[in-house]
Amino acid sequence: MNKKGILVVISGFSGSGKGTITKQLLTNYPNTYALSISATTREPRPGEVDKQDYFFVSTEEFENMIQQDAFMEFAQYVNNSYGTPKEYVLGHLEKGLDVVLEIDIQGALKVKKAYPDALLLFVSPPSAKELKRRLKERGTEDASVIDSRLSRACQEAEGVEHYDYFVINDNLEECVQQVHSMIQNEHAKTARNLVLIENIRAELKSFVKGE
Ligand code: 5GP
Repeated sequence: MNKKGILVVISGFSGSGKGTITKQLLTNYPNTYALSISATTREPRPGEVDKQDYFFVSTEEFENMIQQDAFMEFAQYVNNSYGTPKEYVLGHLEKGLDVVLEIDIQGALKVKKAYPDALLLFVSPPSAKELKRRLKERGTEDASVIDSRLSRACQEAEGVEHYDYFVINDNLEECVQQVHSMIQNEHAKTARNLVLIENIRAELKSFVKGE
């Protein structure tokens, strides 16, 4: 049977650890998940690699991609644009892989509207205090960017109810296992198995008829 993949959106406050969770999920289960790589106009951080962490593009290139309808969704986040290339995601879902989009809340809501079957997970540190500590500890942004990200987190906290699950990232490995279970349990939902159920019904009917 050709099982279709689940479109999984992982969001969370900047500094929640959602990126680490996603990477670990891919490392632990490489044949189950594919990670969507977004395009962004943001400058790469030290250590980030083009086409691996993001497609780092100019504003003009980003505009061209919008014109070509290449994005599944796109949004502005703290002075930069971010977008999810459509072709890769849809192709991998067809192949049966669960495709993970690590995107912000605006993008998540757009995806849910266009693809109501998408599973939305929101990752949070155990407390706001811990979030601030992690952002400072990361040391990749200056104080004003940290402040912008904290005020953005404040806005995002208002939209969390739109997500299917709220995941607390306290212990990384436990959190990865929890996220993996949530996604894999989703495959068993009756609503995602209507074709299979219909086939079993038809087969049972033919047995009853003595065929
Ligand atoms: P960062 O600059 O820290 O890598 O990402 C900033 C925010 O943009 C994060 O919340 C991240 O999840 C989000 N983001 C990354 N890629 C996309 C995308 O393709 N679309 C949207 N809407 N948000 C994205």
